[in-house]
Amino acid sequence: MNPSTNGTGRKTVGVLALQGDFREHREMLESMGHAVREIRKPGQLADIDALIVPGGESTTIARLIISNGFHGPIREFCASGKPVWGTCAGAILLAKQVDHLDRPGIEMMDISVHRNAFGRQVDSFEANLDVEGLDGGPFHALFIRAPRIDAVSFPAHAIAALEDGTIVAARQGNLLATSFHPELTGDTRLHELFLSIGRPPGVSAK
Ligand code: GLN
Repeated sequence: MNPSTNGTGRKTVGVLALQGDFREHREMLESMGHAVREIRKPGQLADIDALIVPGGESTTIARLIISNGFHGPIREFCASGKPVWGTCAGAILLAKQVDHLDRPGIEMMDISVHRNAFGRQVDSFEANLDVEGLDGGPFHALFIRAPRIDAVSFPAHAIAALEDGTIVAARQGNLLATSFHPELTGDTRLHELFLSIGRPPGVSAK
């Protein structure tokens, strides 16, 4: 095992590379010792252990998902049980309910998401979050024109919220959604948590 992977083992991680900040995820994953594939064609989903849908512009990524034939294949990948993580626009795309998205996203998580929910004055902000399953203290989270998770229904559950109770991260089995951007900080703990999803019981995720 590559020691720099912090116990998650070396994985081949796909990052959907249609639009948005896929390069930042790539750099973080490579710094952790993982192999990364930028995914631009549905056939590339066959060779990866996990998939990240990055931040960017959710309407644009939704359009490109449909025009590049990804809609069914990404939904099938989500159903396969392999880890899938949507960050910011990616979280919007994973949600079954979204306000103001003019075409279908991936629609696999039982969460309801409100786009650009934090207002113009605070398009970007930072907050320290306690994230369920994350050891080592609060996670310093960066929000950029972020969505808010308004509702989470079983089997999804909230794993992080702002001080006022606003939900900003949720998990549903192998699916993870965060309205912030861990790939833009130096903290790899959420990427590690993500890659430990689906690990057989009894094997430590630390
Ligand atoms: N506001 C963007 C959207 O609705 C998401 C922003 C982001 O991914 N940083 O698509």
